[in-house]
Amino acid sequence: MEIKAIKENYLKQKESVINSKEVNELRINFLGKKGIVNELMSKLKTLSSEEKIEFAKEVNLIKQFISEDIEQLMSDIKKRELNERLAKEAIDLTLPGRDYKSKNKHPLNLVIDEISEICIGMGYKVEEGPEVELDQFNFEMLNLPKDHPARDMQDTFYIDGRTLLRTHTSPVQARVMLKSEGKPIKIICPGKVYRRDDDPTHSHQFMQIEGLVIDENVTLADLKGTLAYIIRSLFGEKREIRFRNSYFPFTEPSVEVDVSCFNCDSKGCSLCKQTGWIEVLGAGMVHPNVLTMAGYDTNKYQGFAFGMGVDRIAMLKYGIDDIRHLYSNDLRFLNQFGGNK
Ligand SMILES: [Zn+2]
Repeated sequence: MEIKAIKENYLKQKESVINSKEVNELRINFLGKKGIVNELMSKLKTLSSEEKIEFAKEVNLIKQFISEDIEQLMSDIKKRELNERLAKEAIDLTLPGRDYKSKNKHPLNLVIDEISEICIGMGYKVEEGPEVELDQFNFEMLNLPKDHPARDMQDTFYIDGRTLLRTHTSPVQARVMLKSEGKPIKIICPGKVYRRDDDPTHSHQFMQIEGLVIDENVTLADLKGTLAYIIRSLFGEKREIRFRNSYFPFTEPSVEVDVSCFNCDSKGCSLCKQTGWIEVLGAGMVHPNVLTMAGYDTNKYQGFAFGMGVDRIAMLKYGIDDIRHLYSNDLRFLNQFGGNK
């Protein structure tokens, strides 16, 4: 009788089970060490040996029934739970997708791409380096030792005594020179640089692209030819360039390079401040100190380097009057830049 009651009890409890956790509780309740079925076994000792055999048989039967039934129940419930989860996580393929518009390139990237293409065409390799840079590469290896007064022109943001946000892309040149172990180099280095500046023509963050060539028999004439080619590719075949002498600690001699005004064809306008010329970049022959520090034999090798502000070139090319437009992420501004030129 008791065994029949257990079965009824089990079937009744089973009805209210709704998830796998409850199936486990049901299993422990009936089949666990201290469960209802095991409790029956304690009765054995009160029975005669014949009754014992019969009783044990029945206990085994009910045990088997419950354990098989629970297994089935568990499998059914797990299947149902999985289906429910899949239904909940299903992707509605009929939902319209989000509209990601592929827009124009940023004007700074347009300029970098264009200059890179021109230089790659002349055999230059593109190199990049870290924006958080060591004083050693940003200044010292470029002939700007500690306390050099020319460091004032490039005040920057310091992370600690020896780490700073790079003030130009020249540290990439220093790194490549060291890596090249005294062998020829022909690279351009585009990238973001930082200075303590903030006005309509200067931003605390801006972009440069620099070029460096080191080889035997490299002269100022090579530099002039290279720059004339780059400038004419950027601003038109009719452009003339002009060198004015200048000073940079890492080049000797150093020059500022002007381009004949493309706005007025050198007649004089507000863009060229009535001079007919526009300053576009700085350049020079690599200072022997820089070559020596990077392990080059200055009796054998010479080099030239040039660097231009990508922002300035973009402002000139596209007639942008405030450098801050380039960094304000205003789509009304950015959407004006269409194709590649
Ligand atoms: Zn002009």
